[in-house]
Amino acid sequence: MKKGTAAEENRRIKKLRRDKNKEFAGIAYGFIALFLAMIGYLAWFQTARSEAFINNPYNSRLDHFAERIVRGDITADDGTILASTKVAEDGTETRVYPRGRTYAHVVGYSDNGKTGLEASYNFELLRSHTFLLERVVSEIEGRKNEGDTLVTTLDDALQQTAYEALGSRKGAVVVLEPDTGKIRAMVSKPDFDPNTIVTDWDAILADDEEASVLLNRASQGLYPPGSTFKLVTALEYIREHPKKYKNYSYTCSGSITNDHYTLHCFGNSVHGEVDLEKSLAKSCNSSFANMGLSLNIKNFADTCEDLLFNRDLPIDFAGSGSRFSLTGESGESEVMATAIGQGKTLVSPLHMALIVCAIQNDGVLMRPYLAQRLENADGGRVEQYEPSAYGRLMTEKEAKILRRYMKNVVTDGTASALQSDSYVAAGKTGSAEFGNVKGRSHAWFVGYANAKGKHPIAIAVIVEDAGSGSTVGVPIAKSVFDTYFK
Ligand SMILES: [Zn+2]
Repeated sequence: MKKGTAAEENRRIKKLRRDKNKEFAGIAYGFIALFLAMIGYLAWFQTARSEAFINNPYNSRLDHFAERIVRGDITADDGTILASTKVAEDGTETRVYPRGRTYAHVVGYSDNGKTGLEASYNFELLRSHTFLLERVVSEIEGRKNEGDTLVTTLDDALQQTAYEALGSRKGAVVVLEPDTGKIRAMVSKPDFDPNTIVTDWDAILADDEEASVLLNRASQGLYPPGSTFKLVTALEYIREHPKKYKNYSYTCSGSITNDHYTLHCFGNSVHGEVDLEKSLAKSCNSSFANMGLSLNIKNFADTCEDLLFNRDLPIDFAGSGSRFSLTGESGESEVMATAIGQGKTLVSPLHMALIVCAIQNDGVLMRPYLAQRLENADGGRVEQYEPSAYGRLMTEKEAKILRRYMKNVVTDGTASALQSDSYVAAGKTGSAEFGNVKGRSHAWFVGYANAKGKHPIAIAVIVEDAGSGSTVGVPIAKSVFDTYFK
């Protein structure tokens, strides 16, 4: 009996242990579940919620991330480093820009507030997608993780060519692929050195009122479009006379007077009898002023809205909206001036480039973009940004007609210097008068070029107070086209 009792007692104890183990197991599983839930929440917070917090410039979380992550690099599309963070042995970090002034506006700076890509991709540059284990070990050892790299769509050779071609003059050049929307170059002058932005700051501000050094003229500068706007006037004329636009005819005597207002053709040229195509090729002011007077102003304004005037451009960086202010109330002199790109119309170089992109791309505007992909510090892909269509700005047929006219500007007009064996170019020159100073003008060129086996490229060039588009704007476009198609 005693034996029996001992055996029973043994079984009872074993059962108790099993139950206890089960209980412990239950508690352990509970903890694991709780732990996983916490990790899940943290992961969700890191990926989903933190973006909203970080992108708020007033949020101190941003500094918190900078304490844990070494800000990532920004590169050109071929990997050329445009911005990088050097870490000294004592842990001091310095943001360096190896290409300096060449990319000042588009890449921006991050040491004195943030601008350019440094501002619009601030969150992405302060995220790290290195291997999880590496990140965990770094966290435990108190080391910083390396931030992700932003690979841009910028072409280093094109950017340098545009930068050098603009020289010491004020102005801007922007280059895009019409069929993808990739921005391949974006230059603005005067410029600054982002490496020394902090020490130069006071001097830049002292200059800024007159020179607007910090303004990215390519996307934020607003200028009278001058004769480049004749593309828009021509489009409106075609829309109002879809079957008969070819019958347009005007005899240019060098000037046109209406409503006590006289407009002259550029350089006092007399163009004689011109149709629509020749009016554009020769950039005949008198003919376009005459055409403008025949247009339905309400429809003209609608066409301008189709082309993104008085609207925000589809960009994720700083830009200015263009203005078209003609209404039914506008006087005849204003209508004449507006038809040739003077008057109150204002446009950014990027906007003119986008209009050209749509013309080149059968009427469809691809959304312009600067960020091509994000990589982790080891070169592994984190995110890829694909081309996407913004929408149709004009019909395929309208685009085709304008392309023919723009080609004629090169073969038989004001941009004949763009004739080349390596590519086919098309475009429109402009010499936009500004202020009330007679005889002074901003030099414009907008256009595109293509050749077999390469993406076409579109360009807008403006050089402030530099004279005619034909003599000043065209050579800059030629440098860029020659570099790209060589
Ligand atoms: Zn004329």
